[in-house]
Amino acid sequence: MPTPAIAVHGGAGRWERDPETLGRVQQVLREAVETGLRVLNSGSALDAVVEAVKVMEDSGVLNAGVGSTVDLSGSVSMDAGVMYSRTGRAGAVAYVKYPRNPVVLARYVMELTDHVLLVGDAADLLASRLGLERHPGPLERVRRMYGEAVQRIARGEVPQRFYSRSISLWLSKFPTGTVGAVAVDREGELAAATSTGGVFLKMPGRVGDSPIVGAGFYANRCAAASATGIGEFIILYHLSLRAVEAVCNALDVAEAAERVMADFTSRFGRDTAGFIVIDRLGRAYGAYNTQAMPWAYGAGGRIELRGL
Ligand code: ASP
Repeated sequence: MPTPAIAVHGGAGRWERDPETLGRVQQVLREAVETGLRVLNSGSALDAVVEAVKVMEDSGVLNAGVGSTVDLSGSVSMDAGVMYSRTGRAGAVAYVKYPRNPVVLARYVMELTDHVLLVGDAADLLASRLGLERHPGPLERVRRMYGEAVQRIARGEVPQRFYSRSISLWLSKFPTGTVGAVAVDREGELAAATSTGGVFLKMPGRVGDSPIVGAGFYANRCAAASATGIGEFIILYHLSLRAVEAVCNALDVAEAAERVMADFTSRFGRDTAGFIVIDRLGRAYGAYNTQAMPWAYGAGGRIELRGL
């Protein structure tokens, strides 16, 4: 019987090194893994990844759910996706503003509808009709950051290449990370889930990789992956699908994952992405070409924190 195992990540990027911030992030990842492991005692890999991602969405510390970043208009819009090997199905939502936990809505899309991806107002309406908890709106610290960015624009400080400079500013100021989880259960079934507020000051209407099957997440009967980073590159490369396929045929999970990461980097450059991947045997690995990608692994009684 396979040993249940789970890995979670808190997003690839530049992470502040102050101990308080890192401590908070590590605490959230640990809680997510503990929750996932508890669920895996009796539940499925799907239950485990959804519950683990919910913990991270609720934390307000990471860029998903309650902690989501804002777009150029100052609004939160979120993307999330989930996939389960038992059914071979996926569900995702993009550009949603209503739910506190987009990953739960993504699961409903997979389980209650005939579709894979629902977007915008219609997906929000479904969330409210299903009685999902409502998103509280951007956190105070996110609003402050947005206000500062807007003032910088008004002062003409960042007229050119505003988008990329603002993202760098955002990333350097405090940790925000997309979240993801991958798990294998006692029956050897695998699941992946990813959830994000997207990138700071994205254009309203922009959808990233997180709700795109094969890009931000992927799971089949031999592996599952969740990606993070510059969504546009991840979509073009199908990063999660490639990670899963590489690991499926590999003797060494780490080596296979690093090979995919190196190929991605050769195409899109450094500081662009990362992913976690787990195989049927519960072997997990986090690969990234950014300064850091906090991730955590749990199996049996053991929890390991990595990537910082
Ligand atoms: N991949 C996410 C997006 O592009 C952002 C991230 O992972 O930080 O929306």
